[in-house]
Amino acid sequence: MWKNVGYYNGEIGPLEEMKVPMNDRALYFGDGIYEATCVANRVPFAIEDHLDRMYNSLRLLEIPFKMEREKMKAELQKVIDAAEDAPVHFLYWQISRGVAPRNHVFPGAEVEPTLMAYVKPHAMKSMEKPYRLISLEDNRFKLCNIKTLNLIPSVLANQRALEAGCDEAVLHRGSRVTECAHSNISILKDGVLRTAPTDELILPGITRKHLLALAKENGIPTLEEPFSMVELMNADEIIVTSSSALCMKVESIDHIPVGGKDPRRIKLLQDAYLAKFQRETRK
Ligand code: PLP
Repeated sequence: MWKNVGYYNGEIGPLEEMKVPMNDRALYFGDGIYEATCVANRVPFAIEDHLDRMYNSLRLLEIPFKMEREKMKAELQKVIDAAEDAPVHFLYWQISRGVAPRNHVFPGAEVEPTLMAYVKPHAMKSMEKPYRLISLEDNRFKLCNIKTLNLIPSVLANQRALEAGCDEAVLHRGSRVTECAHSNISILKDGVLRTAPTDELILPGITRKHLLALAKENGIPTLEEPFSMVELMNADEIIVTSSSALCMKVESIDHIPVGGKDPRRIKLLQDAYLAKFQRETRK
């Protein structure tokens, strides 16, 4: 058992000591996809949703990964089970197109995709403490629906947020809000939960999907339509969702106070989400 566990193509060990081949295409091109979720009681949360998205990302990038779902789950469970006890773990995994000399075009059919994973203890953010956001122009490419390893615009955006003393960056294309650097964003306005539709401009977040379902179950109407920066600033509440932090309320954007006008509904959604997480990760 290790505190931080690493995995590469079936080999497991302490994360800090694991090595990967220099010709893995993830290193040169970010030529691969990834997934991540929280784990409690050694149960990975919403694993079926993450595997659905994983296989879809692989299909869209034409990566011929052959491992089927049950074997995939068993491999990830091995990594989880090799970790020392912690209240919550973070499970990350990625699949690259394989190991081959650097060349933009795909390698030959003999090259197998590689599977890499790690598990670490994870401190879940308290939903009591609201997020502060900065806003930035969304300068990403139009493959945002695929969970690829190419995250440079998100890395830069999160660095800018940190430098501004904030937690996340909300991105917009012109006036249209897309999502955040590593989260989706939704608003509550006049009792309706509104979030951008799942087109090529946003990642179809698992937490976003669960939030929409929970809203419906709790009698909150939903609308999957784009909204503008002006609508964001005037929303009753703003909710940022991701697998690592679940549902965070937002208190400011660019240091201007926002939201705070529908505390009952946002609390209902946060509580419902936490209850779902706890229920589904119970042993
Ligand atoms: N949008 C982007 C760009 C992300 O990177 C992420 C998570 O990593 C999300 C949204 C949230 O997705 P999920 O709820 O599946 O974690």
